[in-house]
Amino acid sequence: MSKNGTRAVKYVYDFTEGNKDLKDLLGGKGANLAEMTNLGLPVPPGFTITTEACKVYLESGKVPDPLRDEVSAHLADLEQAMGRKLGAPTDPLLVSVRSGAKFSMPGMMDTVLNIGLSDTSVAGLAAQAGDERFAWDSYRRLIQMFGKTVLGIDGELFEHELDELRAEQQAKTDTELTAAHLKTLVKRYKKIVKSETGQDFPQDPREQMDLAVKAVFSSWNGDRARLYRRQERIPHDLGTAVNICSMVFGNMGDDSGTGVAFTRDPASGQQGVYGDYLANAQGEDVVAGIRNTVALADLERIDKASYDELLRIMETLENHYKDLCDIEFTIERGKLWMLQTRVGKRTAAAAFRIATQLVDQGLISEAEALQRVTGGQLAQLMFPRFKDGEHTEGVRRIARGLAASPGAASGKAVFDSYTAIKWSRSGEKVILIRRETNPDDLDGMIAAEGILTSRGGKTSHAAVVARGMGKTCVCGAEDLEVDTKRRRLTAPGADGKGTVVVEEGDVVSIDGSTGKVYVGEVPVVPSPVVEYFEGRMHAGADDADELVTAVHRMMAYADRVRRMRVRANADNAEDALRARRFGAQGIGLCRTEHMFLGERRQYVERLILADTPAERDEALKELLPLQKRDFVELFEAMDGLPVTVRLLDPPLHEFLPDITELSVRVALAESRKDPHENELRLLQAVHRLHEQNPMLGLRGVRLGLVIPGLFAMQVRAIAEAAAERSAAKGDPRAEIMIPLVGTVQELELVRDEASRVIAEVESATGTSLGLALGTMIELPRAALTAGEIAEAAEFFSFGTNDLTQTVWGFSRDDVEASFFTAYLEKGIFGVSPFETIDREGVGRLVADAASAGRATRPDLKLGVCGEHGGDPESVRFFHEVGLDYVSCSPFRVPVARLEAARACAATA
Ligand code: ADP
Ligand code: MG
Ligand code: MG
Repeated sequence: MSKNGTRAVKYVYDFTEGNKDLKDLLGGKGANLAEMTNLGLPVPPGFTITTEACKVYLESGKVPDPLRDEVSAHLADLEQAMGRKLGAPTDPLLVSVRSGAKFSMPGMMDTVLNIGLSDTSVAGLAAQAGDERFAWDSYRRLIQMFGKTVLGIDGELFEHELDELRAEQQAKTDTELTAAHLKTLVKRYKKIVKSETGQDFPQDPREQMDLAVKAVFSSWNGDRARLYRRQERIPHDLGTAVNICSMVFGNMGDDSGTGVAFTRDPASGQQGVYGDYLANAQGEDVVAGIRNTVALADLERIDKASYDELLRIMETLENHYKDLCDIEFTIERGKLWMLQTRVGKRTAAAAFRIATQLVDQGLISEAEALQRVTGGQLAQLMFPRFKDGEHTEGVRRIARGLAASPGAASGKAVFDSYTAIKWSRSGEKVILIRRETNPDDLDGMIAAEGILTSRGGKTSHAAVVARGMGKTCVCGAEDLEVDTKRRRLTAPGADGKGTVVVEEGDVVSIDGSTGKVYVGEVPVVPSPVVEYFEGRMHAGADDADELVTAVHRMMAYADRVRRMRVRANADNAEDALRARRFGAQGIGLCRTEHMFLGERRQYVERLILADTPAERDEALKELLPLQKRDFVELFEAMDGLPVTVRLLDPPLHEFLPDITELSVRVALAESRKDPHENELRLLQAVHRLHEQNPMLGLRGVRLGLVIPGLFAMQVRAIAEAAAERSAAKGDPRAEIMIPLVGTVQELELVRDEASRVIAEVESATGTSLGLALGTMIELPRAALTAGEIAEAAEFFSFGTNDLTQTVWGFSRDDVEASFFTAYLEKGIFGVSPFETIDREGVGRLVADAASAGRATRPDLKLGVCGEHGGDPESVRFFHEVGLDYVSCSPFRVPVARLEAARACAATA
């Protein structure tokens, strides 16, 4: 508290003052350095300047007034603890200045080491270390790093000077340069600073430190950082913290070094000693590939005491964080120092295995384990994958691009859409290869097994459209030179065996989960996780994959805790059975339109062309038994579980022949003086039914109200099928769903007719069918008047695909291919609203309609059947707004089960 009673803002925290939960204030790196310090681990002392200070700087362009004094006070404490003064001529204290935001992100300022060195203190460091070469090497590194990151000088200038010197001295590596050489280098570096900035390299250690701190603050608003935040939906106002950490030196000779370590294998989850170590090196040297590192296990031989201590610390960290940790450490003359730790990234497979391992170790509960895996990771594990591509005969890896849309695909290389379509029509599998795609490539993309581009990122046209189609895509494979005119691509070859030319027709394979591109056909193996869900592989069996067992266990926890039920969208018995194997608890959406295609099309044509009610009834009568048979099969497959059948939804013209084809046919017939009466009438009908905006035209309930008998026939088929299943001692649970309702009056009319038909079937068969009748909520007006609509509906199913289209006024089929790339790149949204529910807009309508509906009818059943029902982020939203179930494609059912459980635990 300050004197006048207001709490003074504290801008600086010593490492001893923070903890791991203060990431908002201290950033991830600072919070974890504090946590390790307080665990008693050997962390070089230091302090953290808060994100609050950064925010003030970004808003006002000045560091907050009290910051200078606070830093001075903390620096004085640090100097006292270390018994050294920052940049003093004898026995100097040196520090590193390290950025560290709440989320680690690219584009933030690189760490500057060795701050405090100057023309005078360099001698002090040499005396302290008894090593002149080391001191001058540290000084030249400071000028180089500081020059590049703080003063913004082109790093090449320094690199170039270093190369020159090496050449002059005929030194193969830096280590061959002597103290005298490095002294010369420092001179040259200082000249670069002077000529590039007009100023001398700052000799005052505090000035060095302050400049570096400001540069860290400013880097928050660098272009790369801003773009990254926009894409990852990280708020722009979080700011970054800055860590000032006393230096320890891994470059003091062979008894020193630097390393990185993981407490478990981040690829498999196996516990063990994973990491790399590099002797006589500083900072990033270990990952920069300048010299060969050794495996961490070899450290035991090099320095057993430090190795043993490191293993003890790794165990402490695992037990404390109760998770896989990754670690940076340095050994200075036999003394181990911890420089960083955080909960480490891992593969999807490792995530599942680690979660169950930690449960078995008693470190976390089952509920916590659920928070350690995501639906997105489970989805990744369910794609088929390439069998170890590098080791297949005749296969070469030629590039690595961005993993834009998962899956594994092989096919013949084609370089234009036209060929893609032509070849795929004759039964060939093709991979469409372009520099970039644009809307003209759409049909080719549909025809291809997969898409490969040499340009563009994860929001490029190819990536966005492929994800929307669920098609495998690798984009931005920059090493590939795509020549569409000559129909070939040239690749340098990623395996060091020289250039590869791929001509049209050569087989290529692309892995959309890793971004790898191969020439040749790589065999695809099914995912073991899918084999397990399909029941072809059993968890607990002797040979069960450890991953499968882990997934099995996580799914069992999930099913125990989740509140929402999960159904599947399936139109036939085969899909329904698969959905059941994948854990679906019913069908949330059975579309009936496919039941009007193929051979049955003729009846639809007759229905449309009917001149008299008798002709119409005739056509409907033909369709009735066919529909009924479909439903009997479906109800049998889903015996005992609810099946929601949606009455016919799409515009009728979709069942008629293509207008151009038909026109040509009619014109030809006329020229041969052989007009075909029926085709002429058909053509008239096609013209009559043609709509400018079919999505907003005669479809859904409108169709049912305009074509007499159509919906009645469908309802009768459902009712008779249910009666037949009951008679066969089955347990059919059908629900009839009316699409595209905008007002309760529409629904009432259909409901009354349906009730009449059902009553007839019930009395004719002597069974009570208990058929529920409800509607889709997929128009804004339906959502807004949900309270009234609920008077006529026993259930709502939110059709979030159409609802998203109508709320945004986006035609999905058009916008994804035309301007979504621009929208994503401009950051208007971070993810397509067709992929993840737009919480603020579409989501708000869902939430309001749900509560209005329940106010009218407390036992109203609520579900969702759009594609969002299988999207992890959206599933959480539907849980939050209290829906009873989500319904998604069979393949997505496990993902929804898992996310429904995760949502529960998160809100509990
Ligand atoms: P990044 O976020 O890129 O990992 P760090 O701040 O961790 O950046 O630092 C970059 C490198 O410098 C790391 O290898 C780290 O271990 C090392 N490093 C940072 N501070 C010090 C220090 N005080 N003494 C020795 N090495 C340091
Ligand atoms: Mg680091
Ligand atoms: Mg719809």
